[in-house]
Amino acid sequence: MPILQTLKGAVSTDSLGLMLPHEHLFVDLRGPFAPNYGEAEPEAVYNLVKPYLEAAEAAGVTAFVDCAPVGVGRNIAVLKYIADRTPIHIIVPTGVYKEGFVPTDWLDLSAEALADLWIRELTEGIEGTGIKAGFIKVALIDDGPTAIEARNLRAAAIASQATSAVIGSHTIGGKAARAELDILEQAGQDLSRFIWIHAHTEADTSIHLEAARRGAWIEFDAIGADKWFPEQDKLVDFTLNLMESGYSDQILLSHDAGWYEVGSPNGVPQPDGYRGYTALVDQFIPVLRARGLSETDIRQLTVLNPARAFAIG
Ligand SMILES: [Zn+2]
Repeated sequence: MPILQTLKGAVSTDSLGLMLPHEHLFVDLRGPFAPNYGEAEPEAVYNLVKPYLEAAEAAGVTAFVDCAPVGVGRNIAVLKYIADRTPIHIIVPTGVYKEGFVPTDWLDLSAEALADLWIRELTEGIEGTGIKAGFIKVALIDDGPTAIEARNLRAAAIASQATSAVIGSHTIGGKAARAELDILEQAGQDLSRFIWIHAHTEADTSIHLEAARRGAWIEFDAIGADKWFPEQDKLVDFTLNLMESGYSDQILLSHDAGWYEVGSPNGVPQPDGYRGYTALVDQFIPVLRARGLSETDIRQLTVLNPARAFAIG
C-alpha cells in the first residue's frame, strides 16, 4: 500500500486531505559554510511557525512537504520538535541544494556513492534518528545544470529507482528543465517520479506541456507570493492550460512559503516577513471555482495529486 514517509512515520495516502507539496518551516539560505549554519533553538522556531501551521490546519491542510535539503539548513531536531506539536504530517527530503551549497565532503563523490547516502536516508533514517526522508530534493543554478548538479541528478535518479521516492528539482526556466529531463532520462528515470519545481518561472506554456508529455509533474508553487510573482492570475492560466490538454493528474500547487530564517532577527525573513500557507484555500481555489473547475477537479489538484506524487511503495 502506498504511504508517505513523514517525520512521525508512515502514513497511508488514503487518509489524507489537502496536502501542500512545497513549503518551508526552517531555512538557512546563508549556506553550509556560514557560522552556526542551520542552528536554532527548536522551541524558538516552533513559537514562530505555530500560528501559521494552526492557520493551515484550520484551512484543512493535512500534510506538508518541507523542501529544504542539506545545504539550506535541513535540521531534523528542529523539524521533529515541530512535527510532535502539530497534527499536520510533515515530509522532509534527502538530497542537496544547488552548486555553491554542496558540503565540501560531497563534492568529489561519485553519483553512486552519493546515492548510497541518500538511499540510507530514505530507507534507514537521517543522521542516526530512524526518521526516514520522504523524497529527494535537488536544485539547479538559474542557468544550470552545472557538472556537479548533473552528478546530483544522476545520484537522485539512482536513489529514486532504488526506493520509488520522487525527485523534486528547483529549476528556473524551461531551458534548464529540458536539460535536466534529458539527464534523468539518460539515467533511466521514469519521469513520472520527477517534479519540475518552480515551473511557473517558464512563461512559455508549450514547455510546461512538453515536460508533462514526457511524464513529469509540473509544480506551480508561487501561490500567494505576490511580492516576487505578482502575476498570480498566470498561475491559474498555467494550471487550466495543462488541464485542458489532459494533464490534470500531473499538476502540483503550493506556496513555497514560510519560514524561520537562520541569521534573521528572531528568525523572521527580511524584508517581507513570514508568509503563511493559506492562500491556496483562501484565494486560489475560489478563483479556480470561478473559472469553472468542479470539486472533483479541485480534489484532484490538491489532494490526490500530491499524495500520488509523494507516495512510496
Ligand atoms: Zn522552496
